[in-house]
Amino acid sequence: MAYIEPAPIKDIENPFESMMSRFDVAAQILGLDPATYNVLKTPTKQVIVALPITMDNGQVRVFEGYRVIHSNILGPAKGGIRYAMDVNIDEVKALAAWMTWKCAVVDIPYGGAKGGITCDPRSMSAGEIERLTRAYTMALIDVFGPDKDIPAPDMGTSQREMAWLMDEFSKAHGTTITAVVTGKPLVLGGSVGRVEATGRGVMVSAFAAMEKLKINPFKATCAVQGFGNVGSISAKLLHERGVKILGVSDVSGAYFNENGINIEEAIAYRDSNNMSLEGYQNAQKITNEELLALEVDVLVPAAKEDVITPENVHNLRCKLIVEGANGPTSAKADAVVQEKGIMAVPDILANSGGVTVSYFEWVQNRLGYKWGLDRVQRRSDRILKEAFDKVYNTAQKHDTTLRIGAYVVAIDKVAQTYKFRGGF
Ligand code: NAD
Repeated sequence: MAYIEPAPIKDIENPFESMMSRFDVAAQILGLDPATYNVLKTPTKQVIVALPITMDNGQVRVFEGYRVIHSNILGPAKGGIRYAMDVNIDEVKALAAWMTWKCAVVDIPYGGAKGGITCDPRSMSAGEIERLTRAYTMALIDVFGPDKDIPAPDMGTSQREMAWLMDEFSKAHGTTITAVVTGKPLVLGGSVGRVEATGRGVMVSAFAAMEKLKINPFKATCAVQGFGNVGSISAKLLHERGVKILGVSDVSGAYFNENGINIEEAIAYRDSNNMSLEGYQNAQKITNEELLALEVDVLVPAAKEDVITPENVHNLRCKLIVEGANGPTSAKADAVVQEKGIMAVPDILANSGGVTVSYFEWVQNRLGYKWGLDRVQRRSDRILKEAFDKVYNTAQKHDTTLRIGAYVVAIDKVAQTYKFRGGF
């Protein structure tokens, strides 16, 4: 089967290569037919738009915006919009495919998409960002839609941009259409529980994995890298359920206390300190590299991609990795994680609580009804737990890792849908 030569893993990995190397292994296990393989490798739609904006100084600048729909075979495409200087079409393509697998693994009826604008939002005024967001929405007015493609926030964007996008889209259609975007402010149809959703999914995945490894949560120790939305909420929810968090970190460094970090206190400190842990007192300061190497039961990388690398993977002393961040383990390091006998709950499963509650937001918008927090949490916990069990059983069946198991579950679902729908 020459068509499924696994993509070589290069020394310098990019997200697309990382993703494809795993995709290829899963495709091999599934014995994916060449036609479906090639369809799934190729995004369904790629759009590049020019966005001329009048800046505050009166000059017109032209920005470039992107939207890639990797697949919409399972339903409308879903994925965030990123504002950053290094956004480019290749990165957006990789992230769009990632969204396809993430939605498929938790079995929500969405395809995968991603978008972005090459810009530096920190150097722009709110007015400039608003004009840019509205121009982007208008340029993609035929792409977006509650039944077609539903954006969400990503790096450099937040509920503020989603509100502008929803407003511009609604004006163009002459009626308020909240379901065109998720991650909106609560008052505009956002969902309760969305802010905590990703961290909560990390906690649910960690508990499901600890059960398999027979780790008693009340005796378990944990280190969490990254103390933003995902890291701090994962730490808080694990801590509340009896897990001792020995270390936390952010871009300022890492903080270790062998008796356990008081997470509520650390969050309060961060909130009062310009969202930084810099200067946090009730712990010993160590480096982020030392945090990754702590002897703990559970390690939650929840900061950024490619932090567990071929260079540092040998230092890991945890039993379980739960990937809060997207792509924290490079594909090359993955093999060593496996050799060391560490269980790793992959990103597309562990951090899918966010997209799951985004899906609930869209459902509520379409129903014209608001769910309570209890319903949101109960349903997302159940979806995450069921997805974990399915991935675990698939991995056992094929004698492979949870990561490959997750790709097998996701690719199989998409491939089966193609088979039933036919058309090529
Ligand atoms: P965030 O911006 O709220 O927080 C990021 C945290 O990581 C901050 O504490 C920052 O200081 C820290 N950090 C940055 N660089 C670091 C470094 N080199 N070493 C140590 N810490 C560093 O971001 P977030 O929303 O929590 O997202 C974190 C990760 O989770 C990203 O990979 C993101 O793509 C992924 N993710 C987020 C969501 C979500 O719902 N927010 C959903 C799925 C995946």
